[in-house]
Amino acid sequence: SIVVTGATGHLGRLVIDELLATVPAQRIAAVVRDKEKATDLAARGVELRIADYSEPESLAGAFRAGDRVLLISGSEVGQRVAQHTAVVEAAKAAGVAQLAYTGVLGGPDADFLLAAEHKVTEQRILESGLPYTFLRHGWYTENYTGNLAPVLEHNAVVASAGEGRVASATRADYAAAAAAVLTGDGHLGKAYELSGDVAWSFAEYAAELSRQTGRTIAYTNVPAEAHLGILTGAGVPEPFAEVLVDVDAAVGRGLLAGTTGELARLSGRPTTPLADSVAAALATA
Ligand code: NDP
Repeated sequence: SIVVTGATGHLGRLVIDELLATVPAQRIAAVVRDKEKATDLAARGVELRIADYSEPESLAGAFRAGDRVLLISGSEVGQRVAQHTAVVEAAKAAGVAQLAYTGVLGGPDADFLLAAEHKVTEQRILESGLPYTFLRHGWYTENYTGNLAPVLEHNAVVASAGEGRVASATRADYAAAAAAVLTGDGHLGKAYELSGDVAWSFAEYAAELSRQTGRTIAYTNVPAEAHLGILTGAGVPEPFAEVLVDVDAAVGRGLLAGTTGELARLSGRPTTPLADSVAAALATA
């Protein structure tokens, strides 16, 4: 089977959609921790395998010999090394034919806080000896367009990324690439640096929002300390606010700006332009 973990998440659902377009449903399995959240997937004929990354014994039935597996990185920052290690061990014990993993752009060279767990996970996968494919994701455009309320309230894009650029792509773009490596040949032992075709600056993002809303929305670049205060003041827990400010510092250093073209090449189509994502977000804002 082709097996997708995190299948009830935003990215996982999009990967399942892509797979269902070309693969019979009975060859697709979804690893989920909450069966209730996956009733729609079961209704479409996708096999459900119930397992939690945090409960190694539950992972024993998640994989079978010969499966092609996509491990979608977990969302519980700080717990992911133990969680992903348990998934890798279960995949190894089952004897899967491919373990694809959603890591971070730059792989071992990414030196920001959020990258640390991804780097260790890649190392664990290499140590397992399993046939692997690393899908090193750049930023999701939805990280920005999915959070427009404060921007529209203050007519300001507030960040601490300076002139840094982000080669973002939509989750749907990354999902198409994942489906391609799970269904195609020649992807074993490869590490793909996946990102959008165009790297945009926050000033350009603000200009695009201004153009589409008819307002004047400015980019307000603030020092890291001030950014931290703004985020915690808005209710973001301090440890996560620190992670977000650290991401902006990484953007400022150019670490999320790489445009390799590998995402478009794998998915077979250009990545979604920022303007399209802005339009889609404004339509529902
Ligand atoms: P979601 O939070 O929507 O999905 C995460 C998925 O992981 C969910 O299906 C969730 O299950 C599952 N999951 C989390 N913890 C466990 C666990 N302990 N056991 C089993 N399953 C678990 O995130 P996205 O789909 O948007 O993104 C996918 C991943 O990409 C994220 O988890 C994160 O690692 C990374 N990411 C990358 C970003 C980028 O810009 N590059 C931005 C945001 C995230 P459930 O549905 O039950 O909650």
